[in-house]
Amino acid sequence: MPKTENCASQSQKMLAKLQASTIGLDVQYQLASGDTTRRIYLDSTASTLQLGLARDITDKYLPHYANTHSNVHFNAKLSSREFEWAHDMVLEFVDADPKTHGCFFVGSGTTGGINRVARTLSRKWPRKDVVITTVMEHHSNDLPHRKNFNKVIHVPVQVTENSFGCAAVEEIEKALKEYAGRVNYVAVTGASNVTGITNPIYDIAELAHRHGTMIMVDAAQMAAHMPIQMSGHENTARNLDIVCLSGHKIYAPSSPGVVITRLDLFCGVEPDEVGGGMVDDVYLDRYLSTDKFPDREEAGTPNIVGAIALAAVLCALKKIGMNYIAKEETQLINDTISQLVKIKEVVVYGETNTGECMRAGALSMNIRGMHHALTAAILNDYFNIAVRNACFCAHPYVREMIARDLGEQIDDLSNEELEELAELHRGMVRASFGLYNDAADVTALVSALQQISDNKDYYQSQYHQPDTGDEYFHNTFKFDSRPIFSTQTEVHNWLASE
Ligand code: PMP
Repeated sequence: MPKTENCASQSQKMLAKLQASTIGLDVQYQLASGDTTRRIYLDSTASTLQLGLARDITDKYLPHYANTHSNVHFNAKLSSREFEWAHDMVLEFVDADPKTHGCFFVGSGTTGGINRVARTLSRKWPRKDVVITTVMEHHSNDLPHRKNFNKVIHVPVQVTENSFGCAAVEEIEKALKEYAGRVNYVAVTGASNVTGITNPIYDIAELAHRHGTMIMVDAAQMAAHMPIQMSGHENTARNLDIVCLSGHKIYAPSSPGVVITRLDLFCGVEPDEVGGGMVDDVYLDRYLSTDKFPDREEAGTPNIVGAIALAAVLCALKKIGMNYIAKEETQLINDTISQLVKIKEVVVYGETNTGECMRAGALSMNIRGMHHALTAAILNDYFNIAVRNACFCAHPYVREMIARDLGEQIDDLSNEELEELAELHRGMVRASFGLYNDAADVTALVSALQQISDNKDYYQSQYHQPDTGDEYFHNTFKFDSRPIFSTQTEVHNWLASE
């Protein structure tokens, strides 16, 4: 067998094993119809399901668990080594050169990481008081910059033949020229959490470097779906300076956030968080922060188990090859889009020509004339399809795309009709994918949306909406989670069991 075919078949085998290990793929719930079916999980952009691999490795590690700030006893030695390896693994996963780059773990996911970057670099270069970002960002890659810098420029996205595409690179260049000398960094998402549309981050890196600044990539969505190459580009201007990501969006439990950064960026500035573990010595009138990286950025006891579980997943994904995973997933999302655009009543947001505009992991849509929250409720209650709805912490982007879409339909509408339409569409329905989804999930989604749009009146009549709030409630069916799982009951049962 030729070498590449052999590699592909090995990747396929390993991927199949990982997919089969997914926790919760076979979970069943009872529906409004009374039937009990398998839940289809299409909410991986919020948090992916977790892999059995992470659980199994964690279970094996836990007997040896100890605080990494202890260092003499056996558990501490083992834990410290594994925690250190977790850092190495993260660097390897994003192809970062350990001579020039390092990483540190933070609490609360990518949000924690981006806040740390913004706080640290705004203090390091106070005169560089501008951050350039885009309108397609998650609030977590927008508000931390607004809070810590004088000015945040939100560049628009490209207007493509049918809709909106990726970040408008030429607008980034315009802003770089306009604010020359003041730009601390360009902060851009690798892939949108709303549309899944990906950005040309290496082109943007080159541009930022040419204009004397740098790039920070929000890889919260990108990491699980595409390869990331921070170092080693033939043209070194295409290397990335900082990347932030989250464990819970890449098949690991809990939410360790990670900042992978050029080492020089976090040197020569007081660490943002202080406490145990980041000092060489402390006196009553002063303290000496350590120069050691990542220790100086990891004050307090880190999420050791979370970091090890995440690194275990990254190790497996790296072995399979992110290019291989991306290829499989791109096929799935392209197939989904090409089927959804055929349903007359469904609008898919963003450029749907996937040849022109690549997507990773997610797409958002609406059924015309139906509130996004109602569509999501019906998908859940009648079809056991888990999706998310509303604005996905990306309000400006969602608003802009909906306005553009409505702009195409409003010519003949009265004011009341217009208001009703706008109200219905103050949000979207998002379907998002992970490595455990397959063509059968896509078929189930497409068929459910077709059925809903063919029977709008019937489904609508089954729900009511209280005066306040955006949520829809089924008239008779109510989901009670407690008989299925209640932590308190499980504890009581556990204590009472022999
Ligand atoms: N950026 C993007 C693109 C995201 O999708 C998210 C989470 N939805 C975040 C940042 C924040 O990630 P976290 O919840 O891990 O802090």
